[in-house]
Amino acid sequence: MKRLILLGALLTVAALSMAAAAYQQPQQELSPQALAATKLEKVKDNLYIITGADPTNREMFSGGNTGVFITDNGVVVVDTKLAGWGQILIDKIHSVTNKPITTIINTHTHGDHTGSNEAFGATVDIVAHENTKANMAKMDAFKGDKAKFLPKRTFKDKMSIGSGKDRIDLYYFGRGHTDGDAWLVYPALRVMQTGDMFAWKDAPTIDRNNGGSGLEYAATIGKVLATVKNVDTLIVGHSPLRTVPDLQEYQRFMNDFVAAVRNANKAGKSVDEAAASINLNSKYPGYKNDRYKAAIMAIYDELKPAKSN
Ligand SMILES: [Zn+2]
Repeated sequence: MKRLILLGALLTVAALSMAAAAYQQPQQELSPQALAATKLEKVKDNLYIITGADPTNREMFSGGNTGVFITDNGVVVVDTKLAGWGQILIDKIHSVTNKPITTIINTHTHGDHTGSNEAFGATVDIVAHENTKANMAKMDAFKGDKAKFLPKRTFKDKMSIGSGKDRIDLYYFGRGHTDGDAWLVYPALRVMQTGDMFAWKDAPTIDRNNGGSGLEYAATIGKVLATVKNVDTLIVGHSPLRTVPDLQEYQRFMNDFVAAVRNANKAGKSVDEAAASINLNSKYPGYKNDRYKAAIMAIYDELKPAKSN
């Protein structure tokens, strides 16, 4: 009897942790395909990315693109991939510099961008938007003893770290993928890192549970484009390097996509009917429609009249 109860408890724990894993996806073993896809590549001068970010084939996925910025005083790591990838990141960073890793910046809360924070030790400075810190604090991965791997410094609208050629400007422009997406600019290199606000050429993930908004998405990108000048290269969330015209196009895509979803909603179409009837691929060459349905679901949810309590 005792054994049965124990088994039941174990099964419950397993089911709960599987549910919690949806965003956190801790990996026990690193797949050879993912290891092969996870490469350190130079962006410009002292700025690199670590790839493996394309989640289309989960076997090849290690988490969002990681930025590696080597400054005079140490290395800044932007996004730490899934849990279990920290040592791989450290080894790759040390293949190009002996400097200590001093700072982590998390662009947003998701486990494929924050999962390996703990591998860098408790003394590393961790920086994120204030809403991202609050969102991370709700994750099992940062509860109890692991709370020491939460951001130590936060910002609301803008903050800069470092100076001269080592400066990074962090901006918050509003809701979209979540309610705490940081945009990073490396002014000396004319590079911007977008996190998952621009992840791929398809509908975005709109994480309503973490404050994301489809309706505000394009306006948020509009603020970025109006404010950030003098960049020519974009490190995005989950696909190769892009350009500013790519981001301008993504803003147009999101305006068109949300307008189409609003129309479908007004016409009384179900999520499935909307997903079947909307296709912007011919207007936006190179775009996919693999992620429309989840985004439509999130926007439909957002369009529901506010519940009265
Ligand atoms: Zn994300």
